[in-house]
Amino acid sequence: MTKNYHEVIICGAGMIGLTFALLMAEKKIKVCIVDKSDKRLLFAQQDNRTTAISQGSYRILKKLGIWKKLKNEFQPINQIFVSEGLGSHDINFDYKNLGEGPLGFIVDNKLIKTILLNEVSKSKYVSFKYGTEIININNEDIDNSFIETKNFDLYFKLLVAADGRFSRTRYHANIKYYYHDYKQTAFVFNISHSKKHHGVALERFFPTGPLAILPASNSKIHQSSIVWTVDTAVATDKAFKDNFKEEFEKKYDNFFGKLISISEVKKYPLNVFSCYDIFKKNIILVGDACQAIHPIAGQGFNLGLRDAFALSKTLEKSKELGLEPFNLCLMKSYESMRSMDKTLLVNATHSLNGLFSGSGKFKSLFRKTGLKIFSQSNFLKNQSMLFAMGLRNLEA
Ligand SMILES: Cc1cc2nc3c(=O)[nH]c(=O)nc-3n(C[C@H](O)[C@H](O)[C@H](O)COP(=O)(O)OP(=O)(O)OC[C@H]3O[C@@H](n4cnc5c(N)ncnc54)[C@H](O)[C@@H]3O)c2cc1C
Repeated sequence: MTKNYHEVIICGAGMIGLTFALLMAEKKIKVCIVDKSDKRLLFAQQDNRTTAISQGSYRILKKLGIWKKLKNEFQPINQIFVSEGLGSHDINFDYKNLGEGPLGFIVDNKLIKTILLNEVSKSKYVSFKYGTEIININNEDIDNSFIETKNFDLYFKLLVAADGRFSRTRYHANIKYYYHDYKQTAFVFNISHSKKHHGVALERFFPTGPLAILPASNSKIHQSSIVWTVDTAVATDKAFKDNFKEEFEKKYDNFFGKLISISEVKKYPLNVFSCYDIFKKNIILVGDACQAIHPIAGQGFNLGLRDAFALSKTLEKSKELGLEPFNLCLMKSYESMRSMDKTLLVNATHSLNGLFSGSGKFKSLFRKTGLKIFSQSNFLKNQSMLFAMGLRNLEA
């Protein structure tokens, strides 16, 4: 074999590609990560988002030793209030009802990515090709598969695509997917407010889209992270743009006291990509490359992490059995392991967004009745909490 041969190549050093590399390193399996960004750019990321990390994901990251590196820079979510518009909290999810610890944790994306990058850089099981964009993939012959990049070819046995929602690997592998443009824009920013948040997260549903207010960790000020989804038709309207802060304040409604400041605002157009196949030949998709979902429930990373976790276990098994990393039977078992979770979340987030966005008397009545039934059933609330916490769908 040429010197540019790696049994397992991961395309994409996002949060999923990096965590997958560390899960493999934990099992003493060598991998090579390829990312189109150069090292400087990867470390100086511009991501101003926070991620709601579920209990299940927390347990994976803790076992990997990542959690302790966050020191105390994470915010536990103790309660989630859900309401239609500015109404009183129609549903109240409380961590005390389950005894499984906090409902989740809010973590700064820049911080966790930096920790993951540092850990990957230190690992003797992970090699890194920065500034390397995949131009083409040639895997007609599974035993002689290679990636073409601008400067060299990289040979592999198994290629793991973790290159995000616009995955080029998925394109080269010719894996088909369902796509839908929500015609919505997510505005992401941080706010500081006069009162403490006490670990409370709030999800308010408006006809123009949901507003999520997530408690943030900050020892100096009272801070929350905002993901405000707005129909793109409204978001591009001049009057809305000119009065952005006022429009937000109306929806925020002094929930945590007076609004003190708003950080820089970043925009994300919202869409869903969901692949019909999880793998094709010796190319396998994980994270957003496989399914990129609406952020309404803050589950995309958690779902992708479960992909990474299950795939690392599958590859550990193939190593134990002395098989090649690409083994059709094991890949099929991986696929069946992941299909249900993926299908459930793609459909649940899609339907939730459809139900909770838009106006109309029938929809509104349906929402109100649904919320009422839900709020009165501890069983429903507890089951959905366990699911959202990643404790119902984690093949541990
Ligand atoms: C507004 C918003 C809020 C969200 N909030 C939450 C939340 O609270 N909780 C949650 O669980 N999820 C959340 N998500 C989803 C979450 O952010 C994603 O699921 C997650 O970041 C996906 O990570 P990834 O590693 O799969 O992909 P990405 O982060 O997209 O990483 C892909 C990597 O691949 C590289 N790459 C791309 N193309 C190539 C190529 N051709 N060659 C080489 N490298 C390439 C890129 O440089 C990048 O480093 C949110 C999403 C949005 C939009």
